[in-house]
Amino acid sequence: MITMTNVTKTYKSGDSETYALKEINLTIGEGEFVVILGPSGSGKSTLLNVISGLDTVTSGKITFRDEELTDLSEDEMTEFRRRHLGFIFQQYNLLQNLNVYENIQIGSDIGTNPLDIDELLQKVGLENARNKYPNQLSGGEQQRVSIVRSLAKNPDIIFCDEPTGSLDEQNSKKILQMLQDLNVAYKKTIIVITHNTGIAEMADKVIKMNSGQITEVIINKVKKNAQ
Ligand code: ADP
Ligand code: ADP
Repeated sequence: MITMTNVTKTYKSGDSETYALKEINLTIGEGEFVVILGPSGSGKSTLLNVISGLDTVTSGKITFRDEELTDLSEDEMTEFRRRHLGFIFQQYNLLQNLNVYENIQIGSDIGTNPLDIDELLQKVGLENARNKYPNQLSGGEQQRVSIVRSLAKNPDIIFCDEPTGSLDEQNSKKILQMLQDLNVAYKKTIIVITHNTGIAEMADKVIKMNSGQITEVIINKVKKNAQ
């Protein structure tokens, strides 16, 4: 689904140059649950940013299905993001003056083939929170709302940047379990960035990064059958 070929990203400041990504080669398949692991500064966010077109590459090529993303203009890339990608961050970014349903609706309106919001709320156990406001919900519940918001527009890929970074262990587990269930139920490609090594066992593929390079790719073949 996504292919990266010799992707390099450097940041220049004065005479010095930082390699945020160095000659990355990577493929991500349709419907895969991928976890990107690595210490702070290893290039995880940059990897997410260049795949999602939030940032340009210095050299190399990225393709999505048969489309070469690195050839798209900024407007085309914005349209690509709008149609195909969903995002979940450490911060839930919910609008405080809108209720749960309205927060989700904002995200789904921009999709061409949105999913049913009430059905999604039921899937994540929030059917009774439909008319509540963000400040009436726990952190874990707010993150579940932001997951539904990203899913509602029916994207092909959901990017999660430290989705459990603000949650305790128990809530983190719940959120990750939920992402895994949604990956199976809706066949969405899910890419999770984290430095929480406990997440790795849930993934189809674990990509370990260090100093802008992929140091190891672990493919977990048994996961889906073992559930
Ligand atoms: P996290 O690891 O939590 O994702 P980052 O270290 O990646 O946090 O930083 C968050 C944001 O700051 C990113 O958008 C990244 O591009 C930017 N950033 C990171 N390092 C630098 C830097 N040295 N100079 C300028 N911006 C940076
Ligand atoms: P991670 O997400 O794994 O913490 P990042 O992708 O944010 O790592 O950063 C990789 C490297 O690139 C780091 O050395 C970081 O300081 C640098 N970097 C990231 N964004 C910027 C930026 N906007 N300007 C300068 N350096 C950056």
